[in-house]
Amino acid sequence: MNQKMNNEDVHFPCTGCGECCRHINRVEQLAVYDRGDGVCIYLSGNLCSIYKDRPEICRVDYMYEKVFSNYMSREDYYAANLAVCRKLREDRNH
Ligand code: SF4
Ligand code: SF4
Repeated sequence: MNQKMNNEDVHFPCTGCGECCRHINRVEQLAVYDRGDGVCIYLSGNLCSIYKDRPEICRVDYMYEKVFSNYMSREDYYAANLAVCRKLREDRNH
């Protein structure tokens, strides 16, 4: 029988491409972080320079627990997020 995994053992499979942090202009909660062109002022290369203190909205797993677990499975939430990640990368390459 499969053992149920603890929530702490499950993490969103982020590749660290940084694309989401280059398109924050549509994220109301991050308006003050926008340097003016949709790129977050805290993005350094592809990394978040305030990672440990980043806003709640930037924490994919945290947001699932806090909000989205009320509406959807973790698998569906990850799939929806990954679709956005993929779209952002595709747009960059076109
Ligand atoms: S776009 Fe997706 S894969 Fe890339 S850094 Fe953001 S969450 Fe991670
Ligand atoms: S605070 Fe960090 S994780 Fe959030 S958008 Fe800015 S660089 Fe990305």
